[in-house]
Amino acid sequence: MSYVDIIKSILSDGRWHCIESIIQETGYSARNRISEMNKASMKKDGRIVIEGEPCDMENHSHRANVYKYRNAQHEEKQYYMQTFDDLIGETL
Ligand SMILES: [Zn+2]
Repeated sequence: MSYVDIIKSILSDGRWHCIESIIQETGYSARNRISEMNKASMKKDGRIVIEGEPCDMENHSHRANVYKYRNAQHEEKQYYMQTFDDLIGETL
């Protein structure tokens, strides 16, 4: 499995994950991989796939500015619009 696949599988539960726990699985390149995944998705679909916030998880005390990540939550409506546009595209 590539690091991207590992990150996807970690985030597949839809919950927040501290970057430290992701780094344990993929090494310090995790931040770059997440950034690349978002850039690729912005280019393709105009939206990010992974969202981040400063980590405030229970029992975590970070001296540095550490982030937590999860799969980006997009509104259902947006999702259907996207699908509808895709379908229109298919028929042309
Ligand atoms: Zn943390």
